[in-house]
Amino acid sequence: MPKARIVVVEDEAAIRRGLSDALRLSGYEVTEAPDGGAGLREAAAAGVDLVLLDIMLPRRDGLEVLSELRRTNPTRPVILLTARGSEDDRVRGLKMGADDYVVKPFSAKELIARVEAILRRTMRAVPEVHLVGVGCGTIDLDRREVRWPGGGRADLSETEAALLKYLVSNRERAVSREELLSRVWGIGTAGLETRAVDMHVARLRAKLKTPDGGGDQPDAIVTVRAHGYMAGPALSVGR
Ligand code: CA
Repeated sequence: MPKARIVVVEDEAAIRRGLSDALRLSGYEVTEAPDGGAGLREAAAAGVDLVLLDIMLPRRDGLEVLSELRRTNPTRPVILLTARGSEDDRVRGLKMGADDYVVKPFSAKELIARVEAILRRTMRAVPEVHLVGVGCGTIDLDRREVRWPGGGRADLSETEAALLKYLVSNRERAVSREELLSRVWGIGTAGLETRAVDMHVARLRAKLKTPDGGGDQPDAIVTVRAHGYMAGPALSVGR
């Protein structure tokens, strides 16, 4: 499993550094943000696994960041860092979709235990996919091939298979081109253009058409305008 990526949004430098150091020591990859503006940008970035979000922040407060984040990333795990006595904020935060909270002052040990508990739930929730149905055909992701009932077959490249696997594993949501680049290609978005994603999707779509010309599979991979792609209804998950 790759290292989990955590964003720490906290304006008090000493707390932010202390948290980041403790998380890095526990093996996590950490990005720090000192205010709500930078916090939202980092928290909404592709490939982030969890966000630690202070409520009292300059520029945009934590609850504002949370509400904005929920619009773009409805399921991204968030733990709120709250002050003692701010019960209203905690309740509001939980209602807005925060996953958990800790009350300051907290120990790094307690926080990391909570981080681990949430990541256990979210990062392993998706079972490994091996076989995917496409119309009347079958895609074997381990052997990287598409097989049709009449004996026709097509080979998938490693990237095409990984792309398909990622879309199917996240089939309940649209996945952005940036997220695909970072999760399938495994690199920052700087080196590669998002057009590379479009080219691979086009090739993959061509291979998912039935070989006898029995029609396209237009709904195997759905284009989500101005965003990215999503596994369509023609794809079904096998074992
Ligand atoms: Ca603060």
